[in-house]
Amino acid sequence: MHKGFVYLVGAGPGRADLITVRGAEVLKVADCVIYDKLANPALLQFVSKNAEIIHVPKRIGEGSCTQDEINKVLVEKALSGKTVVRLKGGDPCIFGRVAEELAVLIEAGVDFEIVPGVTAAVAVSSYTGIMLTDREYSSQVTFVTGREAEGKEGTNIDWDVLAKFPGTIVFYMGMGTLESTARRLIEKGKSADTPAAVITNATFPNQRVVRAPLVRINEVCELQKVKPPAIVVIGAAAASEARFDWFTKRPLFGRSIVVTRDIPGNADFAEKIVRRGGNPLGFETIRIKPLTDSNDFLRTLTKIVQYDWVIFTSGNGVTIFFDALESMGKDARVFGSAKIAAIGSGTAEHLSRFGIKTDFVPDVFTGRELGKQLIGFANLRNKRILLLRSQIASEELLDILAGAGAEVDNVAVYTAVSAKSEPAWLVDGIGEGTIDWLMFASPSSADGFFKQFDSGAVNSGEVKVASIGPVTSERLKQLGVTVDVTAKEHTLDGLLDAIEDAEK
Ligand code: SAH
Repeated sequence: MHKGFVYLVGAGPGRADLITVRGAEVLKVADCVIYDKLANPALLQFVSKNAEIIHVPKRIGEGSCTQDEINKVLVEKALSGKTVVRLKGGDPCIFGRVAEELAVLIEAGVDFEIVPGVTAAVAVSSYTGIMLTDREYSSQVTFVTGREAEGKEGTNIDWDVLAKFPGTIVFYMGMGTLESTARRLIEKGKSADTPAAVITNATFPNQRVVRAPLVRINEVCELQKVKPPAIVVIGAAAASEARFDWFTKRPLFGRSIVVTRDIPGNADFAEKIVRRGGNPLGFETIRIKPLTDSNDFLRTLTKIVQYDWVIFTSGNGVTIFFDALESMGKDARVFGSAKIAAIGSGTAEHLSRFGIKTDFVPDVFTGRELGKQLIGFANLRNKRILLLRSQIASEELLDILAGAGAEVDNVAVYTAVSAKSEPAWLVDGIGEGTIDWLMFASPSSADGFFKQFDSGAVNSGEVKVASIGPVTSERLKQLGVTVDVTAKEHTLDGLLDAIEDAEK
Protein backbone atom coordinates (compact mmCIF):
# COMPACT_ATOMS: atom_id res chain seq x y z
CA MET A 1 0.00 0.00 0.00
CA HIS A 2 1.02 3.59 -0.62
CA LYS A 3 2.76 4.99 2.42
CA GLY A 4 1.86 8.46 3.57
CA PHE A 5 4.19 11.35 4.20
CA VAL A 6 4.85 13.43 7.29
CA TYR A 7 5.68 17.12 7.36
CA LEU A 8 7.04 18.29 10.70
CA VAL A 9 6.11 21.94 10.54
CA GLY A 10 7.13 24.84 12.74
CA ALA A 11 3.98 26.84 13.46
CA GLY A 12 5.90 29.90 14.57
CA PRO A 13 5.71 31.51 18.00
CA GLY A 14 2.06 32.55 18.18
CA ARG A 15 0.52 34.88 15.66
CA ALA A 16 -0.83 32.70 12.89
CA ASP A 17 0.75 34.65 10.04
CA LEU A 18 4.25 34.12 11.41
CA ILE A 19 4.24 30.61 9.96
CA THR A 20 6.45 30.28 6.87
CA VAL A 21 4.98 30.27 3.36
CA ARG A 22 6.11 26.65 3.04
CA GLY A 23 4.37 25.76 6.30
CA ALA A 24 1.08 27.29 5.14
CA GLU A 25 1.39 25.51 1.79
CA VAL A 26 1.80 22.05 3.26
CA LEU A 27 -1.11 22.66 5.65
CA LYS A 28 -3.29 23.12 2.56
CA VAL A 29 -2.43 19.65 1.21
CA ALA A 30 -2.63 17.77 4.51
CA ASP A 31 -5.16 14.95 5.00
CA CYS A 32 -4.44 14.96 8.70
CA VAL A 33 -3.11 17.67 11.02
CA ILE A 34 -1.77 16.86 14.47
CA TYR A 35 -1.21 19.89 16.66
CA ASP A 36 -0.56 20.72 20.28
CA LYS A 37 -1.35 23.68 22.46
CA LEU A 38 1.50 25.95 21.41
CA ALA A 39 0.42 25.94 17.77
CA ASN A 40 -2.17 28.66 17.15
CA PRO A 41 -5.55 27.05 16.27
CA ALA A 42 -6.09 29.95 13.83
CA LEU A 43 -3.63 28.12 11.58
CA LEU A 44 -6.33 25.56 10.95
CA GLN A 45 -7.88 28.12 8.57
CA PHE A 46 -5.37 26.94 5.97
CA VAL A 47 -6.42 23.32 6.32
CA SER A 48 -8.83 21.70 3.85
CA LYS A 49 -12.34 21.06 5.14
CA ASN A 50 -12.00 17.30 4.65
CA ALA A 51 -8.79 16.95 6.63
CA GLU A 52 -8.80 15.19 9.96
CA ILE A 53 -7.65 17.39 12.83
CA ILE A 54 -6.14 15.82 15.93
CA HIS A 55 -5.41 17.91 18.99
CA VAL A 56 -2.76 16.41 21.26
CA PRO A 57 -2.58 18.37 24.51
CA LYS A 58 0.90 17.73 25.80
CA ARG A 59 1.61 19.12 29.23
CA ILE A 60 2.89 17.80 32.41
CA GLY A 61 0.06 16.22 34.32
CA GLU A 62 -3.18 14.45 33.70
CA GLY A 63 -5.47 14.53 30.69
CA SER A 64 -2.57 14.98 28.36
CA CYS A 65 -0.89 12.76 25.79
CA THR A 66 2.48 11.24 26.31
CA GLN A 67 5.11 11.58 23.62
CA ASP A 68 4.71 7.81 22.96
CA GLU A 69 1.02 8.28 22.24
CA ILE A 70 1.75 11.13 19.85
CA ASN A 71 4.41 9.06 18.09
CA LYS A 72 1.94 6.22 17.72
CA VAL A 73 -0.75 8.38 16.12
CA LEU A 74 1.81 9.94 13.78
CA VAL A 75 3.01 6.58 12.45
CA GLU A 76 -0.48 5.10 12.30
CA LYS A 77 -1.84 7.96 10.19
CA ALA A 78 1.15 7.98 7.86
CA LEU A 79 1.03 4.21 7.35
CA SER A 80 -2.63 4.46 6.41
CA GLY A 81 -1.49 6.47 3.40
CA LYS A 82 -2.22 9.97 4.65
CA THR A 83 -0.29 13.18 4.16
CA VAL A 84 0.21 14.21 7.75
CA VAL A 85 1.25 17.59 9.11
CA ARG A 86 2.67 17.51 12.60
CA LEU A 87 2.38 21.13 13.63
CA LYS A 88 4.69 22.18 16.44
CA GLY A 89 4.99 25.55 18.15
CA GLY A 90 7.93 27.76 17.16
CA ASP A 91 10.63 25.80 15.37
CA PRO A 92 10.13 22.02 15.45
CA CYS A 93 13.77 21.36 16.30
CA ILE A 94 14.16 23.76 19.21
CA PHE A 95 13.12 21.97 22.40
CA GLY A 96 10.54 20.19 20.31
CA ARG A 97 11.40 16.53 20.86
CA VAL A 98 11.55 16.14 17.12
CA ALA A 99 14.31 13.52 17.28
CA GLU A 100 11.94 11.09 18.97
CA GLU A 101 9.28 11.61 16.33
CA LEU A 102 11.82 11.22 13.53
CA ALA A 103 13.15 8.01 15.03
CA VAL A 104 9.75 6.32 14.96
CA LEU A 105 9.08 7.56 11.42
CA ILE A 106 12.39 6.24 10.17
CA GLU A 107 11.80 2.94 11.87
CA ALA A 108 8.41 2.64 10.21
CA GLY A 109 9.89 3.63 6.85
CA VAL A 110 7.82 6.82 6.55
CA ASP A 111 9.29 9.69 4.50
CA PHE A 112 9.29 13.14 6.01
CA GLU A 113 10.24 16.80 5.59
CA ILE A 114 11.04 19.32 8.32
CA VAL A 115 9.71 22.84 7.76
CA PRO A 116 11.45 25.35 10.03
CA GLY A 117 9.58 27.94 12.05
CA VAL A 118 10.30 31.15 13.94
CA THR A 119 11.36 30.03 17.38
CA ALA A 120 9.98 31.81 20.46
CA ALA A 121 13.28 33.45 21.48
CA VAL A 122 13.72 35.03 18.07
CA ALA A 123 10.12 36.22 17.94
CA VAL A 124 10.45 37.68 21.44
CA SER A 125 13.43 39.64 20.25
CA SER A 126 11.62 41.14 17.24
CA TYR A 127 8.39 41.83 19.13
CA THR A 128 9.99 43.56 22.13
CA GLY A 129 13.15 45.12 20.70
CA ILE A 130 15.19 43.09 23.19
CA MET A 131 18.10 42.30 20.88
CA LEU A 132 19.58 38.90 21.66
CA THR A 133 22.84 39.97 20.06
CA ASP A 134 24.38 43.41 19.98
CA ARG A 135 27.79 44.46 18.75
CA GLU A 136 28.38 46.44 21.94
CA TYR A 137 27.38 44.06 24.69
CA SER A 138 26.38 40.61 23.43
CA SER A 139 28.41 38.72 20.86
CA GLN A 140 26.86 35.40 21.76
CA VAL A 141 23.54 33.96 22.77
CA THR A 142 22.54 30.66 24.28
CA PHE A 143 19.19 28.87 24.46
CA VAL A 144 18.69 26.82 27.63
CA THR A 145 15.76 24.67 28.77
CA GLY A 146 14.35 25.32 32.21
CA ARG A 147 12.95 21.82 32.29
CA GLU A 148 15.16 18.94 31.46
CA ALA A 149 13.90 15.61 30.14
CA GLU A 150 11.73 13.85 32.70
CA GLY A 151 13.50 11.08 34.52
CA LYS A 152 16.90 12.10 33.16
CA GLU A 153 19.81 11.42 35.49
CA GLY A 154 21.93 14.42 36.34
CA THR A 155 21.94 17.53 34.18
CA ASN A 156 23.45 18.75 30.92
CA ILE A 157 23.47 22.31 32.15
CA ASP A 158 26.86 23.42 33.44
CA TRP A 159 25.90 26.21 35.80
CA ASP A 160 29.52 27.30 36.28
CA VAL A 161 29.88 27.88 32.56
CA LEU A 162 26.46 29.48 32.26
CA ALA A 163 27.15 31.92 35.11
CA LYS A 164 30.30 33.05 33.32
CA PHE A 165 28.65 33.20 29.88
CA PRO A 166 29.27 36.76 28.69
CA GLY A 167 26.37 37.02 26.21
CA THR A 168 22.58 36.71 26.35
CA ILE A 169 21.06 33.69 28.11
CA VAL A 170 17.58 32.70 27.00
CA PHE A 171 15.53 30.18 28.97
CA TYR A 172 12.63 28.29 27.41
CA MET A 173 10.12 26.62 29.77
CA GLY A 174 11.81 28.57 32.54
CA MET A 175 8.91 29.81 34.67
CA GLY A 176 8.62 26.82 37.00
CA THR A 177 12.32 26.96 37.83
CA LEU A 178 12.92 30.71 37.68
CA GLU A 179 13.68 31.07 41.36
CA SER A 180 16.31 28.30 41.40
CA THR A 181 17.76 29.40 38.05
CA ALA A 182 18.38 32.94 39.31
CA ARG A 183 19.73 31.68 42.62
CA ARG A 184 22.13 29.21 41.02
CA LEU A 185 23.48 31.75 38.54
CA ILE A 186 24.10 34.26 41.32
CA GLU A 187 25.72 31.60 43.57
CA LYS A 188 28.03 30.71 40.72
CA GLY A 189 29.12 34.30 40.32
CA LYS A 190 26.69 36.12 38.03
CA SER A 191 25.99 39.62 39.29
CA ALA A 192 22.70 39.95 41.17
CA ASP A 193 22.11 43.16 39.21
CA THR A 194 22.24 41.47 35.81
CA PRO A 195 19.20 42.70 33.85
CA ALA A 196 16.50 40.07 33.34
CA ALA A 197 13.23 40.11 31.42
CA VAL A 198 10.33 37.70 31.22
CA ILE A 199 8.17 37.84 28.11
CA THR A 200 4.84 36.02 28.03
CA ASN A 201 2.52 35.34 25.11
CA ALA A 202 4.97 36.85 22.67
CA THR A 203 3.45 38.16 19.41
CA PHE A 204 -0.10 37.83 20.81
CA PRO A 205 -2.32 40.79 21.73
CA ASN A 206 -1.73 39.92 25.38
CA GLN A 207 2.07 39.99 25.12
CA ARG A 208 3.69 41.22 28.35
CA VAL A 209 7.22 42.10 29.35
CA VAL A 210 8.32 42.11 33.00
CA ARG A 211 11.80 43.40 33.82
CA ALA A 212 13.84 43.27 37.02
CA PRO A 213 17.41 42.61 38.14
CA LEU A 214 18.19 38.89 38.22
CA VAL A 215 18.00 38.74 42.01
CA ARG A 216 14.40 40.03 42.00
CA ILE A 217 12.96 38.70 38.76
CA ASN A 218 11.14 35.72 40.31
CA GLU A 219 9.58 37.80 43.06
CA VAL A 220 8.38 40.45 40.58
CA CYS A 221 6.88 37.77 38.31
CA GLU A 222 5.07 36.21 41.25
CA LEU A 223 3.72 39.59 42.32
CA GLN A 224 2.51 40.29 38.80
CA LYS A 225 1.10 36.77 38.43
CA VAL A 226 3.06 36.06 35.28
CA LYS A 227 1.97 32.80 33.65
CA PRO A 228 3.66 30.65 30.98
CA PRO A 229 4.34 30.40 28.09
CA ALA A 230 7.23 32.71 28.77
CA ILE A 231 10.75 33.30 27.63
CA VAL A 232 13.33 34.46 30.19
CA VAL A 233 16.13 36.68 28.93
CA ILE A 234 19.17 37.27 31.15
CA GLY A 235 21.99 39.63 30.31
CA ALA A 236 22.58 43.23 29.21
CA ALA A 237 20.16 42.65 26.32
CA ALA A 238 17.24 42.47 28.76
CA ALA A 239 17.69 46.17 29.54
CA SER A 240 16.92 47.16 25.95
CA GLU A 241 15.76 50.62 25.03
CA ALA A 242 12.05 51.16 25.56
CA ARG A 243 11.81 52.99 22.23
CA PHE A 244 12.57 49.74 20.38
CA ASP A 245 9.37 48.25 21.76
CA TRP A 246 7.14 48.96 18.76
CA PHE A 247 4.52 46.26 19.24
CA THR A 248 2.85 47.17 22.51
CA LYS A 249 2.84 50.84 21.49
CA ARG A 250 0.43 50.28 18.63
CA PRO A 251 -2.80 52.21 19.16
CA LEU A 252 -5.13 49.20 19.42
CA PHE A 253 -2.62 46.94 21.19
CA GLY A 254 -4.33 44.49 23.52
CA ARG A 255 -7.81 45.22 22.19
CA SER A 256 -9.89 42.27 21.04
CA ILE A 257 -12.22 43.38 18.27
CA VAL A 258 -14.93 41.22 16.75
CA VAL A 259 -15.48 41.83 13.04
CA THR A 260 -18.91 40.88 11.78
CA ARG A 261 -18.99 40.75 7.99
CA ASP A 262 -18.78 37.93 5.47
CA ILE A 263 -15.65 35.74 5.55
CA PRO A 264 -13.58 37.61 2.90
CA GLY A 265 -14.73 40.94 4.34
CA ASN A 266 -13.62 39.86 7.81
CA ALA A 267 -10.19 38.85 6.50
CA ASP A 268 -9.80 42.26 4.84
CA PHE A 269 -10.79 44.02 8.01
CA ALA A 270 -8.63 41.78 10.20
CA GLU A 271 -5.50 42.88 8.39
CA LYS A 272 -6.29 46.54 9.10
CA ILE A 273 -6.81 45.75 12.80
CA VAL A 274 -3.57 43.79 13.05
CA ARG A 275 -1.68 46.73 11.53
CA ARG A 276 -2.92 48.87 14.42
CA GLY A 277 -1.91 46.23 16.98
CA GLY A 278 -5.37 44.86 17.76
CA ASN A 279 -6.62 41.32 17.97
CA PRO A 280 -9.27 40.71 15.31
CA LEU A 281 -11.79 37.94 15.91
CA GLY A 282 -13.80 37.04 12.84
CA PHE A 283 -17.48 36.20 13.21
CA GLU A 284 -19.36 35.44 10.01
CA THR A 285 -22.78 37.12 9.99
CA ILE A 286 -23.60 37.26 6.30
CA ARG A 287 -22.80 35.58 3.03
CA ILE A 288 -22.63 37.67 -0.10
CA LYS A 289 -24.53 36.12 -2.99
CA PRO A 290 -23.89 37.51 -6.49
CA LEU A 291 -27.03 38.14 -8.54
CA THR A 292 -25.13 38.72 -11.76
CA ASP A 293 -26.77 35.80 -13.55
CA SER A 294 -30.21 37.44 -13.34
CA ASN A 295 -31.90 38.49 -16.56
CA ASP A 296 -32.22 41.98 -15.19
CA PHE A 297 -28.47 42.28 -14.76
CA LEU A 298 -27.59 40.66 -18.09
CA ARG A 299 -29.98 42.94 -19.97
CA THR A 300 -28.53 45.99 -18.21
CA LEU A 301 -25.02 44.99 -19.13
CA THR A 302 -25.75 45.23 -22.86
CA LYS A 303 -26.87 48.84 -22.58
CA ILE A 304 -24.65 50.46 -19.97
CA VAL A 305 -23.29 52.87 -22.59
CA GLN A 306 -26.71 54.51 -22.69
CA TYR A 307 -26.40 55.77 -19.12
CA ASP A 308 -25.04 59.18 -18.16
CA TRP A 309 -24.05 58.03 -14.66
CA VAL A 310 -23.29 54.65 -13.14
CA ILE A 311 -23.19 54.57 -9.33
CA PHE A 312 -21.54 52.01 -7.06
CA THR A 313 -22.27 52.01 -3.33
CA SER A 314 -19.96 49.29 -2.00
CA GLY A 315 -16.69 47.50 -2.62
CA ASN A 316 -18.62 44.22 -2.87
CA GLY A 317 -20.76 45.66 -5.67
CA VAL A 318 -17.65 46.70 -7.59
CA THR A 319 -15.84 43.39 -7.22
CA ILE A 320 -18.88 41.28 -8.11
CA PHE A 321 -19.67 43.49 -11.10
CA PHE A 322 -16.16 43.19 -12.52
CA ASP A 323 -16.03 39.44 -11.80
CA ALA A 324 -19.18 39.07 -13.91
CA LEU A 325 -17.69 41.23 -16.70
CA GLU A 326 -14.55 39.13 -16.67
CA SER A 327 -16.47 35.86 -16.89
CA MET A 328 -18.26 37.20 -19.97
CA GLY A 329 -15.02 38.17 -21.64
CA LYS A 330 -15.81 41.88 -21.33
CA ASP A 331 -13.98 44.77 -19.69
CA ALA A 332 -14.48 48.33 -18.46
CA ARG A 333 -15.23 49.54 -22.01
CA VAL A 334 -18.87 48.53 -21.37
CA PHE A 335 -19.20 51.90 -19.61
CA GLY A 336 -18.53 53.86 -22.81
CA SER A 337 -18.65 57.52 -21.87
CA ALA A 338 -20.89 57.05 -18.81
CA LYS A 339 -19.59 58.89 -15.76
CA ILE A 340 -18.95 56.87 -12.62
CA ALA A 341 -19.74 57.80 -9.00
CA ALA A 342 -18.85 55.98 -5.78
CA ILE A 343 -20.39 56.34 -2.33
CA GLY A 344 -17.02 56.72 -0.62
CA SER A 345 -13.28 56.38 -0.79
CA GLY A 346 -13.36 52.63 -0.12
CA THR A 347 -15.62 51.98 -3.09
CA ALA A 348 -13.54 54.35 -5.25
CA GLU A 349 -10.45 52.39 -4.23
CA HIS A 350 -12.09 49.16 -5.40
CA LEU A 351 -12.92 50.82 -8.74
CA SER A 352 -9.32 51.95 -9.15
CA ARG A 353 -8.25 48.28 -8.91
CA PHE A 354 -10.09 47.80 -12.20
CA GLY A 355 -8.55 50.87 -13.82
CA ILE A 356 -11.52 53.16 -13.21
CA LYS A 357 -11.02 56.75 -12.09
CA THR A 358 -14.17 57.76 -10.24
CA ASP A 359 -15.79 60.98 -11.48
CA PHE A 360 -17.57 61.79 -8.26
CA VAL A 361 -17.27 60.87 -4.55
CA PRO A 362 -19.23 62.87 -1.93
CA ASP A 363 -17.37 64.18 1.09
CA VAL A 364 -19.66 62.33 3.50
CA PHE A 365 -19.95 58.67 2.60
CA THR A 366 -23.68 57.93 2.85
CA GLY A 367 -26.34 57.29 0.21
CA ARG A 368 -28.18 60.45 1.17
CA GLU A 369 -25.09 62.67 0.83
CA LEU A 370 -24.14 60.99 -2.42
CA GLY A 371 -27.55 61.86 -3.84
CA LYS A 372 -27.65 65.41 -2.50
CA GLN A 373 -24.10 66.27 -3.50
CA LEU A 374 -24.35 64.71 -6.95
CA ILE A 375 -27.34 66.97 -7.65
CA GLY A 376 -25.13 69.96 -6.81
CA PHE A 377 -22.26 68.60 -8.89
CA ALA A 378 -24.09 67.82 -12.16
CA ASN A 379 -27.39 68.62 -13.78
CA LEU A 380 -29.37 65.40 -13.47
CA ARG A 381 -32.61 66.48 -15.15
CA ASN A 382 -33.65 63.82 -17.67
CA LYS A 383 -30.29 62.13 -17.21
CA ARG A 384 -30.16 58.34 -17.12
CA ILE A 385 -28.63 56.91 -13.95
CA LEU A 386 -27.82 53.28 -13.15
CA LEU A 387 -27.43 52.12 -9.55
CA LEU A 388 -25.42 48.90 -9.27
CA ARG A 389 -25.76 47.78 -5.67
CA SER A 390 -27.10 45.36 -3.09
CA GLN A 391 -30.64 44.09 -3.41
CA ILE A 392 -31.34 45.22 0.12
CA ALA A 393 -30.05 48.81 -0.21
CA SER A 394 -32.34 51.59 0.99
CA GLU A 395 -34.61 53.56 -1.34
CA GLU A 396 -33.36 56.93 -0.17
CA LEU A 397 -30.68 57.48 -2.80
CA LEU A 398 -33.05 56.43 -5.55
CA ASP A 399 -35.73 58.86 -4.34
CA ILE A 400 -33.34 61.79 -4.11
CA LEU A 401 -32.05 61.26 -7.64
CA ALA A 402 -35.54 60.72 -9.07
CA GLY A 403 -36.65 63.87 -7.21
CA ALA A 404 -34.04 65.83 -9.18
CA GLY A 405 -35.62 64.68 -12.45
CA ALA A 406 -33.28 61.81 -13.27
CA GLU A 407 -34.42 58.53 -14.77
CA VAL A 408 -33.04 55.95 -12.36
CA ASP A 409 -32.60 52.21 -12.88
CA ASN A 410 -31.77 50.20 -9.79
CA VAL A 411 -30.13 46.85 -10.56
CA ALA A 412 -29.08 44.41 -7.86
CA VAL A 413 -25.64 42.87 -8.35
CA TYR A 414 -25.65 40.97 -5.07
CA THR A 415 -27.54 40.31 -1.92
CA ALA A 416 -26.46 39.49 1.63
CA VAL A 417 -28.00 36.50 3.35
CA SER A 418 -27.61 35.83 7.07
CA ALA A 419 -25.03 33.21 8.00
CA LYS A 420 -24.95 31.02 11.06
CA SER A 421 -21.72 30.82 13.03
CA GLU A 422 -20.58 29.03 16.14
CA PRO A 423 -21.23 31.66 18.83
CA ALA A 424 -20.12 29.88 22.04
CA TRP A 425 -16.66 31.52 22.22
CA LEU A 426 -18.23 34.91 21.65
CA VAL A 427 -20.91 34.44 24.30
CA ASP A 428 -18.16 33.44 26.76
CA GLY A 429 -15.88 36.32 25.71
CA ILE A 430 -18.64 38.90 26.11
CA GLY A 431 -19.66 37.38 29.46
CA GLU A 432 -16.10 37.30 30.78
CA GLY A 433 -15.28 40.81 29.54
CA THR A 434 -12.36 39.65 27.39
CA ILE A 435 -13.82 41.17 24.22
CA ASP A 436 -13.47 44.92 23.89
CA TRP A 437 -15.37 45.83 20.74
CA LEU A 438 -17.98 44.58 18.33
CA MET A 439 -17.87 46.39 15.02
CA PHE A 440 -20.54 46.63 12.36
CA ALA A 441 -19.95 47.81 8.81
CA SER A 442 -23.46 47.39 7.39
CA PRO A 443 -27.09 47.05 8.50
CA SER A 444 -27.17 43.51 7.11
CA SER A 445 -24.27 42.38 9.27
CA ALA A 446 -26.03 43.91 12.28
CA ASP A 447 -29.13 41.87 11.36
CA GLY A 448 -27.07 38.72 10.84
CA PHE A 449 -25.30 39.18 14.17
CA PHE A 450 -28.33 39.87 16.33
CA LYS A 451 -30.20 36.93 14.83
CA GLN A 452 -27.68 34.87 16.78
CA PHE A 453 -27.19 37.11 19.82
CA ASP A 454 -29.26 38.71 22.45
CA SER A 455 -28.85 42.49 22.40
CA GLY A 456 -29.42 42.57 26.19
CA ALA A 457 -26.24 40.55 26.81
CA VAL A 458 -24.26 42.99 24.66
CA ASN A 459 -25.75 46.09 26.31
CA SER A 460 -25.16 44.85 29.85
CA GLY A 461 -21.63 43.53 29.20
CA GLU A 462 -18.42 45.52 29.06
CA VAL A 463 -18.13 45.09 25.31
CA LYS A 464 -18.56 48.29 23.27
CA VAL A 465 -20.28 48.64 19.93
CA ALA A 466 -18.88 50.61 16.98
CA SER A 467 -20.72 51.35 13.75
CA ILE A 468 -19.50 52.55 10.37
CA GLY A 469 -22.14 55.22 9.89
CA PRO A 470 -25.60 56.59 10.65
CA VAL A 471 -27.54 53.99 8.63
CA THR A 472 -25.88 51.07 10.43
CA SER A 473 -26.23 52.84 13.80
CA GLU A 474 -29.92 53.37 13.14
CA ARG A 475 -30.40 49.68 12.40
CA LEU A 476 -28.49 48.74 15.56
CA LYS A 477 -30.75 51.01 17.59
CA GLN A 478 -33.82 49.38 16.02
CA LEU A 479 -32.38 46.05 17.15
CA GLY A 480 -32.21 47.41 20.69
CA VAL A 481 -28.44 47.82 20.80
CA THR A 482 -26.65 50.74 22.45
CA VAL A 483 -24.12 52.14 19.97
CA ASP A 484 -21.00 53.53 21.66
CA VAL A 485 -19.32 55.13 18.64
CA THR A 486 -20.30 55.92 15.08
CA ALA A 487 -17.46 56.56 12.64
CA LYS A 488 -17.08 60.13 11.35
CA GLU A 489 -15.68 58.87 8.06
CA HIS A 490 -17.83 55.98 6.89
CA THR A 491 -15.08 53.61 5.83
CA LEU A 492 -13.39 50.67 7.53
CA ASP A 493 -10.41 52.86 8.39
CA GLY A 494 -12.79 55.54 9.65
CA LEU A 495 -14.36 52.92 11.89
CA LEU A 496 -10.97 52.00 13.35
CA ASP A 497 -10.09 55.69 13.79
CA ALA A 498 -13.28 56.08 15.83
CA ILE A 499 -12.30 53.16 18.08
CA GLU A 500 -8.81 54.60 18.52
CA ASP A 501 -10.32 57.95 19.54
CA ALA A 502 -12.61 56.25 22.02
CA GLU A 503 -9.66 54.35 23.51
CA LYS A 504 -7.54 57.47 24.07
N1 SAH B 1 9.67 24.64 19.68
C1 SAH B 1 9.27 25.81 20.41
C2 SAH B 1 9.60 25.71 21.88
C3 SAH B 1 8.87 24.64 22.60
S1 SAH B 1 9.20 24.64 24.30
C4 SAH B 1 9.95 27.05 19.79
O1 SAH B 1 10.79 26.91 18.93
O2 SAH B 1 9.58 28.16 20.17
C5 SAH B 1 7.91 25.63 24.93
C6 SAH B 1 8.44 26.94 25.44
O3 SAH B 1 8.57 27.86 24.36
C7 SAH B 1 7.57 27.67 26.42
O4 SAH B 1 7.69 27.15 27.71
C8 SAH B 1 8.11 29.06 26.32
O5 SAH B 1 9.32 29.17 27.00
C9 SAH B 1 8.41 29.16 24.85
N2 SAH B 1 7.34 29.82 24.09
C10 SAH B 1 6.65 29.30 23.06
N3 SAH B 1 5.78 30.20 22.57
C11 SAH B 1 5.93 31.32 23.30
C12 SAH B 1 5.32 32.61 23.27
N4 SAH B 1 4.38 32.94 22.39
N5 SAH B 1 5.74 33.52 24.17
C13 SAH B 1 6.70 33.24 25.07
N6 SAH B 1 7.28 32.03 25.14
C14 SAH B 1 6.92 31.10 24.26
